[in-house]
Amino acid sequence: MTKFAKGSVWLVGAGPGDPGLLTLHAVEALKQADVIIYDALVNDIVLDWAKPDAQQICAGKRGGKPSPKQDEITAMLIDFAKAGKRVLRLKGGDPFVFGRGAEEAAELAAANIPFRIIPGITAGIGGLAYAGIPVTSKDVNSSVIFLTGHDKNGLAPDAIDWNAVAKAAGMIVMYMATRNIAEISAALIAGGRPASDPVAVVKNATLPEMEVLETTLETAAADIASSGVGSPAIICVGRGVLLREQLDWLKND
Ligand code: SAH
Repeated sequence: MTKFAKGSVWLVGAGPGDPGLLTLHAVEALKQADVIIYDALVNDIVLDWAKPDAQQICAGKRGGKPSPKQDEITAMLIDFAKAGKRVLRLKGGDPFVFGRGAEEAAELAAANIPFRIIPGITAGIGGLAYAGIPVTSKDVNSSVIFLTGHDKNGLAPDAIDWNAVAKAAGMIVMYMATRNIAEISAALIAGGRPASDPVAVVKNATLPEMEVLETTLETAAADIASSGVGSPAIICVGRGVLLREQLDWLKND
């Protein structure tokens, strides 16, 4: 067991939802933490491992309360650590994958707070695996690209070279892309990706309420709109999606 030192912060990934996907380090962190600051995407069943007197703070939008701002969260982490607490910052998926973990860790480093990173299973790999979609596979797809479909203003990110992405990888895995899917799929098709390329949308991946929508690049926006599939969802594009026909292990579960 790794000792959780007082006055330190652990940035921990809780995986995409199924509590069985927590790491042993994450469970240890939950058992030892004095303060737990968790995101909205964290399955709160895992908080059952916490000490009875651990302080639990939800840092996401829940129950109608406004969510704390990023700099308030960072300030809390630093203040609790300076007060000698064992501070667990629990994030959905992996803390270093579109989770602001890097920004929080940088602030901790600047404040000289000791910290540790505990990786988690990211939705874009583990979540797709629950839908029977491998992000790489021999003969079909030997490269994968991960991107966000949402910049800090809520728009399809300008910083992404969509022409390059269209050609760069067999599998394109997109986080936070549901809202901008019309613009993104048009940009990928304009960049040379076939309009018929298979697409899967996996909502609430790894949870009992998981939903999977299969479509194509050309029809994705319309199908997503008519199906009502919302967030959180991972959208992936590429022929690897077709392997789901054989690999959808959950359907027989
Ligand atoms: N750090 C997280 C990602 C945070 S960004 C990770 O590594 O998985 C939030 C986005 O992650 C969501 O908008 C969605 O695209 C994706 N996501 C997280 N959990 C998910 C889940 N259970 N099912 C589908 N998508 C999920």
